Amino acid sequence: MKIKTILTSTIILLSSITLSAAPFAEVDSLRHAFGRESVNSSKNTGTPYADTLDTGNPGVKVVLYSNGTWAYKRDPAVLAKEKVFNEYWDTNITNPYRDDTKAPEDLHLWIVDTLDSYCCPNKTTPSSGYGYRHGRRHTGIDLPYPKGTPVYATFDGKVRLSDYVGGYGNLVIIRHANGLETFYGHLSERKVIPGQWVQAGEVIGLGGSTGRSTGPHLHFETRYRGYSIDPSWLIDFETGALRHRMLHIRGWYFNPSQRYVQSVDDEDAILEGDEKARIEAEEKAKKLAQERERAAQAAIKYHTVRSGDTLSKIAVKYHTTVRNICRLNGIKETTTLQIGRKLRVR
Ligand SMILES: [Zn+2]
Repeated sequence: MKIKTILTSTIILLSSITLSAAPFAEVDSLRHAFGRESVNSSKNTGTPYADTLDTGNPGVKVVLYSNGTWAYKRDPAVLAKEKVFNEYWDTNITNPYRDDTKAPEDLHLWIVDTLDSYCCPNKTTPSSGYGYRHGRRHTGIDLPYPKGTPVYATFDGKVRLSDYVGGYGNLVIIRHANGLETFYGHLSERKVIPGQWVQAGEVIGLGGSTGRSTGPHLHFETRYRGYSIDPSWLIDFETGALRHRMLHIRGWYFNPSQRYVQSVDDEDAILEGDEKARIEAEEKAKKLAQERERAAQAAIKYHTVRSGDTLSKIAVKYHTTVRNICRLNGIKETTTLQIGRKLRVR
């Protein structure tokens, strides 16, 4: 078997790139090797399987497609046993991580490694961006999407939810092996069921305008442990390319109003260059972070609890969510509010 010989040599490399967080030094060297590579969108992997072959690694299979191409894939039977597909797994609620109120800190996430593939949701200029609009939080971005157009899974993963959910309308949520979840909202039709394994490029539904929507578009979200980040940190929707194989997600990306910032991306690129540029970029980044911290401090707002106040009433008043208030104050949704208590609302 010709394929086999090419395979065994690469498998050794593959097995050293695990999905779990590696020590930083190791991560950095991998990042230098190919973490900064961008990845072009591919729909090829949406083609049906023809056959699978075993490799030297029990968790990896060779998948032969009906169009004659092949790829390495993780074996779903092995993946299914991983923590990420078992903990906080709920096929009914959009955010099963609700009780985990600690926002994630800096992390390096392999968005795709050599085993994964990627398919851009839609190569287009987003019609509505991430962050706040009209005082309402927008946890994803909107992509123009004609009704009935196939919607593809962005990465390989397992469907966690496929249901009609309030404002989202017909919603599909896919969880990926790196812990990331992608949301696809306002679909006219859902084509997958919870628990189903999907590959990047596989059709999961059709574009539409169900739920709170004023016209056909795809509402696309990227979340990590329930916390959303602007999908533009991952994907350049203008070109359709995935920006990097490995993404350095900084803690402040999870700030509800934080949109993708081009300059940060550039600084990261400079960090890969010479030492002088690296130091300069670090200084610049530090200053930027301090300014952001100052701006964040200035934006902090408190509310003094009065008789009749409930968390949801307060949330509405300050254009925020009960969950955010709980997170900011380290309280639960069920906590009794004492009159006179100062609650941080922003
Ligand atoms: Zn939207």
